[in-house]
Amino acid sequence: MIELAEVRRTWRKGTAGIRALDGVSLNVEPGEFVALMGPSGSGKSTLMNVVGLLDRPDSGRYRFEGRDTGSLTPDQQALVRNERIGFVFQAFHLLPRATATENVELPLIYAERPAPPDAGLKALERVGLADRASHLPHELSGGQQQRVAIARALVMDPALILADEPTGNLDSASAREIMELLRRLNQGGTTLMIVTHDLQVARYAERVIEIRDGRIVSDSRVAASVFPEV
Ligand code: ADP
Ligand code: MG
Repeated sequence: MIELAEVRRTWRKGTAGIRALDGVSLNVEPGEFVALMGPSGSGKSTLMNVVGLLDRPDSGRYRFEGRDTGSLTPDQQALVRNERIGFVFQAFHLLPRATATENVELPLIYAERPAPPDAGLKALERVGLADRASHLPHELSGGQQQRVAIARALVMDPALILADEPTGNLDSASAREIMELLRRLNQGGTTLMIVTHDLQVARYAERVIEIRDGRIVSDSRVAASVFPEV
């Protein structure tokens, strides 16, 4: 699904350049559940943005679902992103004055294909929040807000979900709930890539990739039992 070959991304700061990604090669197969770990500033978000077609590499190749993304126009890239990829962020990024359903239905506005009228509610059902459909974000707990954000990521039925520190703002009980939910989605066939600092979160993944200074330094398929349970 994801094939990165020698991907580089450099940020210019004055005359100096920061190599946020310094030759990343990585393949992820459909159905995998990958955790991306590494210190702050190591390039995790930059990598997620490249994978999610929110950003382009300066050099190297990125094939997504067999297509060379380098040859896509920005519009084509946006279409692939809208149809095939769902995003979940640490800070939820919900519109404060929109209800849960309205937030979930946002991606449908940009979609080229029509969605059934109850698509938003269906997605909320999948995250167990149908009974909060008309609530505003501030009327929901942090864990519930993140479930709304996951429903928004799900509403287009994406093949891939990218989650950048999805439990970073949550207490441990809510974090566990979110991870159980993501695991269920993965078991249903959705490919998952998540960034986390938290070993308890990484335990849910079947593959852990560690990145430092823009380079992959380890990539292991692990049983959850390898990680200590706290
Ligand atoms: P992480 O998510 O692992 O904390 P990032 O991918 O956000 O790391 O950042 C990697 C490096 O790239 C850091 O040195 C960061 O300062 C730099 N960087 C990230 N985004 C930008 C940007 N928009 N402009 C300039 N430098 C950036
Ligand atoms: Mg980051």
